[in-house]
Amino acid sequence: MTNSSSSTSGRDLTQGVALEEIVEGGVVTGSVQGEPVLLTRKGDELFAVAATCTHYGAPLADGLLVGDTIRCPWHHAAFCLRDGQATRPPALDNLKCWRVEQIDGKAFVREALPAVQPPTLKIAQFPESIAIVGGGAAGNAAAETLRREGYQGPVTLWSADASRPYDRPNLSKDYLAGTADPSWLPLRTPEFYAEHRIDIQCGHRVVRLDPDSKEIVLSDGQRKRYGALLIATGASPRRLTIPGANLPHVAVLRTLSDCDALIAQVANARHCVVVGAGFIGLEVAAALRTRGVAVDVVMRDAHPMERILGPSLGAMLRTLHESHRVAFHVGEVGKIESNRVMLTTGEELAADVVVTGIGVDPEVALAREAGLDVDRGVVVNEYLQSSARDVYAAGDIARWPDPWTGERIRVEHWVVAERQGVVAARNMLGRRERFAAVPFFWTQHYDVAINYVGHAEGWDRVDIDGDPGAHACTATYWRNNKRLAVATVGRDLDSLRAELAFETQTPVSHA
Ligand code: NAP
Repeated sequence: MTNSSSSTSGRDLTQGVALEEIVEGGVVTGSVQGEPVLLTRKGDELFAVAATCTHYGAPLADGLLVGDTIRCPWHHAAFCLRDGQATRPPALDNLKCWRVEQIDGKAFVREALPAVQPPTLKIAQFPESIAIVGGGAAGNAAAETLRREGYQGPVTLWSADASRPYDRPNLSKDYLAGTADPSWLPLRTPEFYAEHRIDIQCGHRVVRLDPDSKEIVLSDGQRKRYGALLIATGASPRRLTIPGANLPHVAVLRTLSDCDALIAQVANARHCVVVGAGFIGLEVAAALRTRGVAVDVVMRDAHPMERILGPSLGAMLRTLHESHRVAFHVGEVGKIESNRVMLTTGEELAADVVVTGIGVDPEVALAREAGLDVDRGVVVNEYLQSSARDVYAAGDIARWPDPWTGERIRVEHWVVAERQGVVAARNMLGRRERFAAVPFFWTQHYDVAINYVGHAEGWDRVDIDGDPGAHACTATYWRNNKRLAVATVGRDLDSLRAELAFETQTPVSHA
């Protein structure tokens, strides 16, 4: 299942490849009329698909073949080799496929296959209409999936965000650093939504849900009926409550408009203090260093991201950021003034801009007020159904029974939210598909990425294989001798293998 061979890219596959060169578990890369194509085999069947992931363009030859799918090395998207379908987010688009002809002991790739068309589901068997509340990862993935699965009824996505669904992970990375083309941000064009009859209603807040009458109420008082509903309201940044926390130069980063405001603020800034050394804090630090802004990070633990990644990878991140001249300060912020931040230790830090990345709270008010079962998140079953009839929940708000840990968990990762959106959408169409994805996230700091699979809220042992200092290592998190999660640096294939190993465990049943 690993890619044992990968021969010359650029090779013209229309000229044929000897069949014995295409070995089970290996790939041959080349091109067809200038397009990079990957050729692979499963038993007697040969497949030719586009060679780069439709998400961020990763080379799929460096990924993992699993059955008749290929998984992307960077962010764990998966595609079916038979028809190119994107079977796992974060990829939203399918891969192009080509016909493989076997002639005289050679495989020729010359003709592109037609794109797969969604089936057409008979409307009478499904909800009369589907409403989605929330325009983040889960909401967008659900809307797209409904159409991919052939649902013909009305789909309306209500989003409090003024912007169409966008690539939120990019906000704290390339977009903030100024190295992303703004056109990369929207997940889809307006034309895409129009073509797929997805009614995107941005800048509309849903303020009430009545599961008995199957209605939602908008902030302007309008009532809208639904046949089935997905709540994917996401999370909101926590705010500091210290003196000065509401000053105009104190920013959070959650939405595209937050990010645009921050970019405008840092344009003339020389010193930024980042409060919190989690995902936002560290990715913002890296992005602002790329812009040449001096960055001080205030954190509570000795190492950044220690609670998530443990001390070794935390120390690696600290050294990495320090090599980019980020300064770390252990302590709490006591007061913010217009040009400085005072720590409770007495230390003072110059600050034209302050960014707080101190965690988020799931947006559960709508669900709670509607009487849904809420316990540190919206409680859902394995099909992502909430306690109310025809109401599903996905993304940052959903607390689901995780088959791998045997616990109910809530996770705030982009890819998990997208995968839940897909499964919730299918289940709204009666598919009864369990949500059993192994959680995955990646985080990027300068040119170093960390990939993480599994879920470890706490551990009693972390094994490190390799050298964190050389940015080539695997950290395995254990509790009671059970492997809970694996983080890798510079070892993408190992991350994919670890994900697969988790998936092939025996699930833990829930009481
Ligand atoms: P986070 O990852 O939970 O980190 C928050 C950090 O702030 C924790 O280390 C926390 O420390 C610390 N903190 C809390 N209160 C503090 C205080 N008063 N002073 C100093 N430090 C304090 O949350 P986040 O970084 O704000 O990210 C927000 C959300 O965005 C999360 O859902 C995250 O998953 C998501 N996100 C993900 C990515 C990615 O996957 N690459 C990137 C960006 C954002 P304790 O642990 O001690 O509480």
